[in-house]
This record gives sequence, structure tokens and C-alpha cells, in this order.
Amino acid sequence: MFVFLLFTTFLHYLRFSANFTKMFRHLCFLFLVSLASTVQAQNPTTKYDPHVLFNPLFNYQPANEFRSGSGAPGPRYWQNRADYKIAVTLDEAANSITGEVEITYTNNSPETLPFVWLQLDQNAFNDNSRSGKTTPLSGGRYGNSGFEGGYTISAVTIQQGKAKTVPAEFIIDDTRMQIRLAEPLKAGGENLKIKVAYTFKIPSYASDRMGKLETRNGIVYEIAQWYPRMCVFDDIEGWNVLPYLGAGEFYLDYGDYEYSVTVPWNHIVAGSGELMNPSEVLTSDQLKRLEEARKSDKTVMIRSEKEVKDKSSRPKQDGMLTWKFRCQNARDVAWATSPAFVWDAAKMNLPSGKPTLAQSVYPAENGGNDSWGRSTEYVKGCLEFYSKYLLEFPYPVATNVAGIVGGMEYPGIVFCAHNDKKDALWGVTDHEFGHTWFPMIVGNNERKFAWMDEGFNTFINMLSTENFNDGEYNRDRLDDIQNIAPTLFREGADPILTIPDVIKVTNLGWDAYYKPAIGLKLLREVVVGRDRFDYAFKQYAKRWAYKHPTPYDFFRSMEDGSGEDLGWFWKGWFYENYKLDQSVKEVQYVEQNPTKGAIITIENLDQWAMPAVVELEEAGGKKTRVQLPVEVWQRSGTWTFKSTTKTPLKSVTIDPDSQTPDINPRNNTWRPARFISPDEN
Ligand SMILES: [Zn+2]
Repeated sequence: MFVFLLFTTFLHYLRFSANFTKMFRHLCFLFLVSLASTVQAQNPTTKYDPHVLFNPLFNYQPANEFRSGSGAPGPRYWQNRADYKIAVTLDEAANSITGEVEITYTNNSPETLPFVWLQLDQNAFNDNSRSGKTTPLSGGRYGNSGFEGGYTISAVTIQQGKAKTVPAEFIIDDTRMQIRLAEPLKAGGENLKIKVAYTFKIPSYASDRMGKLETRNGIVYEIAQWYPRMCVFDDIEGWNVLPYLGAGEFYLDYGDYEYSVTVPWNHIVAGSGELMNPSEVLTSDQLKRLEEARKSDKTVMIRSEKEVKDKSSRPKQDGMLTWKFRCQNARDVAWATSPAFVWDAAKMNLPSGKPTLAQSVYPAENGGNDSWGRSTEYVKGCLEFYSKYLLEFPYPVATNVAGIVGGMEYPGIVFCAHNDKKDALWGVTDHEFGHTWFPMIVGNNERKFAWMDEGFNTFINMLSTENFNDGEYNRDRLDDIQNIAPTLFREGADPILTIPDVIKVTNLGWDAYYKPAIGLKLLREVVVGRDRFDYAFKQYAKRWAYKHPTPYDFFRSMEDGSGEDLGWFWKGWFYENYKLDQSVKEVQYVEQNPTKGAIITIENLDQWAMPAVVELEEAGGKKTRVQLPVEVWQRSGTWTFKSTTKTPLKSVTIDPDSQTPDINPRNNTWRPARFISPDEN
């Protein structure tokens, strides 16, 4: 076997063949080069087809007046609105929540609605529900078995226009309720009022989103999915009625919430939004300390460990107390209550200077500096960061609650595992509050597209963790992307664009969280650069704040804002599970003379592609880099370029910083079979 010459190199050779002496001098190099090349040439045949990856019709459906081709909401974008007034009572003896919700539903759509759909999430927590019946024997995090829960609905009434309130005609199917209207709800802003009186038994552990925890000083109740609420009617699917099965989260309209929670006198309640009647439910000491906290960067104790069992830490010592809250422009509200809560707080520093409180409630036994004693500092740390990186935190209060739920987000309040400590507590707090931006502000359909909230959130969590307290908890877990490529591309992975209830449970973490997050990191670090990425990403958040973006809106908006056609990226990473395998195939010196530079051939062997960074290391140790855009892969999986090096090459490496998920890094570096420096020659 002799030299496998590229055609272009061969032409060079013919043109400059007069220089035989020089050529001979470097024969040794050439021989070594050819050995290396021969080995590389035995690589398996490429799976790469640029026509598939750079398909011009990918995401080429015409946009419309509701959603524009730029990825922004169109000039006639609309969404419906749901405002809620809720009043409930906790009955500890009966283990139930009982109350009434009044929903004002406004039809801003261009369609008349003969019926409306509501979500009855509590109905999932029953063996007879679809969620119960689809729970595997092993149970799992989202499984619901052995609990006879669900809503008992005692009355549903409806009030339309000037008509009187009348009983509604409705059906219930699993977690959905359809109300069939006597008069259709007219398009263009007509509203109606729905009232539902209901009660439900509180599940101990409901799909890791709500539940109860026994603690030394009483039960911690974390209450969510606690009122009948509207399904979303949108321009994409009409009514979104996928049932609540557990893994798939929520899709909700925006509106204002006023709600009250009546609990035993010895409880402390934390809820989404602002506490409206502090003087009725707090002691004068607590009111004073809250005022202090509003001015303090350091955490201030509102109700200390010692005071938890002290009756005078409550304004009255018997009966019930009603806590009133208001949360505006939100898509949901949740709350927690317990006699066991220690409570601390501090002020947040937001870009606009808007007064906002960070706070934590937790059982005394979970306090301390390596656990929940630092929670409020974490809340402040992450929310201040995100408020600068994206949009400002919108609610007046942010509360972290320690309870049975491992980690779950709601507007202005999150539930994190009571026994988490140190970096685990930072991680979960940062993650759940990161959800303020995805999906609380940017309100995607979580039940279908978990990656648009979990993935985007996991991505911003990396930035926030890098930033917090000089990187105190920054472990760079996802930094060595090459190392985790085999996991990303493992057999049986689900494409990112898979409905969460369809994703295999063991895949959810990778395919709804890490892979989309790493995708955004790749875009930011390797494809478009930090400045252009951050600008486009912020534009996306701004454009879709308090609205309902689809995956297409995201893809389009990112392309528009960054100025790149990224169809190949979305297709390979988000729609398919295309693998990446780049390699250095061959190195030849021009005229076999290292002083004239080298002809380097790189290859793209698998179905995906990425821009290429190639590092050339010369005999004397000098390193130079060549940056090649993804377009080098548009016509084939082979690309040849000439280096400007002047001495023999010690190595040529593609992706020298291991920044891309290359499935086979073994073929990333070319070296002469035995390196001989020119002096030895
Ligand atoms: Zn999450």
C-alpha cells in the first residue's frame, strides 16, 4: 500500500513536482502520514446525508396572523383568560379540602364556544382514574395507587350575560369536565362565570406534586391542583384536553387570583402571591420582623424554632384563621400550611428596585446552615440572577417550602424536599424557582412539550449555579459533553419531541431535561456564540411572556433573533436522535513539504453535524486553531482545507476542548505513526 492522495493534493503534487529534492527530504514524513491515513481510511462508511440534515422544507409551514414567521406572536395573536376567586377550608380531622371556586372565563378567540372544558386534576389520584390504571406495579415517582381520592362536586352553576345564575349541564370524564352551555359563549371578549363547589381528600403523595409530611411539630400540607380550572382553548388544537396522568404537567391560561385558605389557628400558611390580611393572621412581632426582612439582605427570622411550640406566636389560640392572598397575572396558585413551620425572609434586589420578598418555611428539624437555614439565601441568589439574565421576577413574594414533595414549581412558591441539604437543596431550589420563567412566565404546553420548560430551565440552572456565591456549588456536571455523548445517544433514548407521558420513565431526566439543556448550551457555546444566543433567548422570553408558544415559535424566534438558519440543529437534536461523529481523516503536506503547510481532511461520519474546530499542534509545540462553520458539511461529509503551518505537525485534533457530543472521540486526533522532528531527520 502506498499513499492515498486526495485529488486536490495530487494536483498540487503535479504542479510543483520540480521540487523533487525537498520532496525526498520529507519522504519519511510522508510515509508516516500515509500509515496514519491508511488506518483512518478503514473507518466504517459514513451514515451522513446532507440532504436529510439540511432539508429546506424543515419547519417550512407558512405562519399566520396569530403566529408569525419571525417566531413572535402575530398581529392577531389571542388567548383566552381565566380569573379565579377561591375560598377553601382545611379540615384536618377529615383530611379534606372543601370550598368553592368562581371562574370568570373570557373568550378572546375568534370562535364561538358552545361548550367549555375544565381540568379536575384531583381525579387522577384514584385507582379508577386513567392515571391509576396506567400506574405500573412498581409505582414510581408519578404513580398513583391505593388512594381513593378525587373531587366530590356538590354544585356547578353558570352565569352568562345578564341572565341569572343557573345549574350547569356538565359531564365529567376522568380529569376533565365539559360544561355544555345553554347559550354559546361569543367570540371576541364575551365572558361567563362558572362556580363549582367541591371537596377532596388530601392525598399523602400525589405524583410528587402535592402531599403531606408528618413532622415533629405537625403535618406539613403542600396543596396544589386544588381547584377546578379551565383547560386551554388555543389556535393550535382548540381545547387542550390531554388527561392528567402524572408525568405530564400543566397547560394553563393567565388571569388574576384572589383566594382564601381557612386553617386551624396554630398554622402558618404560605401561598402564591401577596398575603392580603397580614394583621389578621400574624402577631405584631411577626409584622415587625417582616418589615425588617423587607430591608435586609441577610435572612431575618420571622418565626423561630423556639416559637413554633409557643402559642403566643399566633394571634389567637383557638378555632380557625382565614389567610387571604392575591396573585396577579398568574397561571396557577398553590399553598402550604403547617403548625410546624419555622419562617425566615430577606429582601430581593431586582433590577427595577421593586420590593420583593424571598422567604422559606420549614420544620425546625430541617433548619441549620447546611440545610434549610440557607434556603432564603438560595431563593434570593437564583431569582436575582434570573431577573437580570431574562426578565424580572414578577411576583411580590417567593417562598420555598420544605415538605414531602421532592421538587415542584408554582407561581411564587415552590415545594422542595425537606431533607435536602447543601448542594442538593441549592440545586432543587434553583431549579424550581427557575421555572418562574419556564413555564410560569413563558407559558408553554407542559403536558406535551416538557423540554420547553424543564429543558430550558435546566439550561438556565447551569448559568445560575456558575454564578451563585462564586460558584460554591458549581460542579460542572454537564461540562464534559464528549464524555456524556454515549449516554445522550444511547439505544432506546426518546427524541426530545416526545410527550412526557410517552417518554419512558427512565428517559425523562435525559430527554426532557439534560438533552434539551445541553442543546441550548451547544447553541450558545459552539454554534452562535454567547452574545447572539443570549439576545435571541431573551427576545424569545420577552415575546412569549404570559403567552403560549409552541416549539415552532421557539425555533423560529431563535433563528430570527440570532440570525442563523438552525433547521439542521433542531432536526438532529430535538426531533431525531441523530448522533455526531467527527474525525480527522488525513493529513498531507503540500508538496510533501511541511514549510508549505498541510492539506487536512476532516470527516462527518454520523447523521448529525456541528461546526468544526480543528487544532494543529506543530513540532515546536505551537498550537493554532481553525474554525469551520457547519456549512462545510452541506455538500458532503468530507471537508479538506489547507493549514498555514510551517513545520511538521505533531497532531491534528477536531473538537480539542471536547465541546461537542462526539460519540467516538477516538478518531478525533491524527498523529504521525511515529513522530520524528526535522532535526532528527
Ligand atoms: Zn422542573
